[in-house]
Amino acid sequence: MPVPGLTHRYVDKALFLALDTCPVYCRFCTRSYAVGIDTEEVSKFQLRVNADRWQRTFDYIRSRPELEDIVISGGDAYQLRPEQITQIGEALLGIEHVRRMRYATKGPAVMPQKILTDDPWTDALTRVVEEGRRRHKEVVIHTHFNHPNEITEITRAAMDKLCERGITVRNQTVLQRGVNDSIATMMLLVRRLGYVNVHPYYVYVHDLVKGVEDLRTTLDTALEIEKGIRGGTAGFNTPTVVVDAPGGGGKRDAHSYEHYDRITGVSVFSAPAVHPGELYFYFDPIHLLPPEGQRRWADPAEHARMVDEAAEKARAAAGGSRH
Ligand SMILES: *Cc1c(COP(=O)(O)O)cnc(C)c1O
Ligand code: SF4
Repeated sequence: MPVPGLTHRYVDKALFLALDTCPVYCRFCTRSYAVGIDTEEVSKFQLRVNADRWQRTFDYIRSRPELEDIVISGGDAYQLRPEQITQIGEALLGIEHVRRMRYATKGPAVMPQKILTDDPWTDALTRVVEEGRRRHKEVVIHTHFNHPNEITEITRAAMDKLCERGITVRNQTVLQRGVNDSIATMMLLVRRLGYVNVHPYYVYVHDLVKGVEDLRTTLDTALEIEKGIRGGTAGFNTPTVVVDAPGGGGKRDAHSYEHYDRITGVSVFSAPAVHPGELYFYFDPIHLLPPEGQRRWADPAEHARMVDEAAEKARAAAGGSRH
């Protein structure tokens, strides 16, 4: 974070956490270190709306010509006032090298009414999109539907309104055990998103977030779901299932693991375009492993060994096939 709330991890894109509130608070949020108010468990990193912090963010982006793509998130863009939508939009569109912007909001999935009734907000967003179009820059919404039941007649009316205004909406889903971890549910979600002109972009394998182990599932389940839905509709309407393994390698196609041990639940990914030579590890929930895997995790002395074994096999696999 060169400026608090601006993560510049990948070469040409950055994540701007403009504020720290959301219209709803998700149990599984990976940003719960900052999003929402303090809880009994966590004192949070503050990311309030702050003119000086925003100005320093725009100055930093302006100083880095490689930054083409800015994600405006938080928190949630639904919580921004119309004039703040405009301020961010104008500042970023005014930077010559910024070519793409996404306003990230869970809003359409939980409160589509706002798009239909909060005209100043929807109009402010529309004006930024239109100004982007005049400058041949892409301004879109990224949203967060997790289940087909979240798509109602009101959602359809709201998404139709954005469609009529030429606003592209893409969706990012979090794979959750017992919620959307079946081929049938995910297929229905993809179809319903298609009917409301929302493009399924990513399905995230659930991050390792403290306190929500019951919602995580195995990489194997994610792979089965991906295999089951691909081909069910247009390829461009089919989400990519990704793992955002800890350590900064970024989102990786779930199928692209270098090694995956279904007994220990350890999978290994590499990210040659981000950090060549580095390995990133993801861990299936222990309670879903076969007994042998559970037994090894019960012994702390085995932990590093399981990771080392997986790293060695991943290096051998990567080395054998490409280098
Ligand atoms: C997810 C993310 C992005 C955007 O990544 P895409 O794969 O282009 O959607 C940018 N920066 C950070 C830090 C991210 O976590
Ligand atoms: S809407 Fe997004 S940022 Fe807000 S709590 Fe949910 S996952 Fe976190």
